[in-house]
Amino acid sequence: MNRFAERLAAEGVNLRRGHPEILQVNVGKVCNLTCVHCHVNAGPKRREIITRQTIDRIVNWLAKSDIPTVDLTGGAPEMIPDFRYFVEHVEGLRPPRKIIDRCNLTILLEPGYEGLAQFLATKKVEIVASMPCYSPENVNAQRGEGVFDGSIAALQLLNSLGYGIDPELPLHLVYNPVGAFLPPSQDELELDYKRELKKHFGIVFNNLYALTNLPIGRFASYLRHNCKLEEYMQLLIRAFNPATVSGLMCRNTISVGWRGEVYDCDFNQQLGMQWSGNSGSKLFLWDIDPNSLEARVIMTGDHCFGCTAGAGSSCGGAIRSLS
Ligand code: SF4
Ligand code: SF4
Repeated sequence: MNRFAERLAAEGVNLRRGHPEILQVNVGKVCNLTCVHCHVNAGPKRREIITRQTIDRIVNWLAKSDIPTVDLTGGAPEMIPDFRYFVEHVEGLRPPRKIIDRCNLTILLEPGYEGLAQFLATKKVEIVASMPCYSPENVNAQRGEGVFDGSIAALQLLNSLGYGIDPELPLHLVYNPVGAFLPPSQDELELDYKRELKKHFGIVFNNLYALTNLPIGRFASYLRHNCKLEEYMQLLIRAFNPATVSGLMCRNTISVGWRGEVYDCDFNQQLGMQWSGNSGSKLFLWDIDPNSLEARVIMTGDHCFGCTAGAGSSCGGAIRSLS
């Protein structure tokens, strides 16, 4: 039993799935950036990319479900050749589904991606954009030189299209710490972001999501390299907050990989913790019935302490208020 499972048992908590509300598809590991904290180890040289055939199988499966939200992540999801095809086919489903694009902002201004922001606006795709700070030093340190200026220009472009202003075009920003520490209060940070981005750049947005870095992927390598991995684990373990367990994203999200394989969350996906059936065979999305998932046991590991530390952390930000 891992340390997280032991802690849940000690607290008398049984972590099981509820009804699925979000299908999160990790469409591949290709990205124009190579951020220090990346749990996917994404980058320009990665070649794992979803095929059109797999997209078709996912859309067909979705058509038979009532899952209301499709959340596209990566890598930079917009870099896969069939990104627009995927969005358009999900858009064609009835009942309509909310589509989320987890965007690193800079891709919107890369050569070859002209018109991408306009496409997202036309399709009313919700944007959840990485922006680890409102000052250039921290952003460039974590994401690379020049990323801050590119992110600001992309946010201004999105605002000019109505993102963050028109209620049908939500724009949320994602903060994550630039080192081995927990996020501060999401509410206070959101006020700071809103004030500073408006004052210096005229930028507006809807909500700030404060996420904790999980000790996996490139962030784990960074911690290991600096001899801080166990110290960070202990920080997460000490900050365990049982009140966050009911809001963990693995309870209502199905995570799918670029080959259609199924996991409890994107973190488990990066760790290769694919679901298995009763016979031990590995499961793909088209093997499962969304109506039969309630009460399914969630696969956990020590990394899960990253989701339950302090205010908690999910794809939608903090799970509980710190104040
Ligand atoms: S954190 Fe996001 S933007 Fe940065 S390398 Fe990973 S996938 Fe790309
Ligand atoms: S990493 Fe977080 S979301 Fe994933 S299974 Fe663990 S607690 Fe749930």
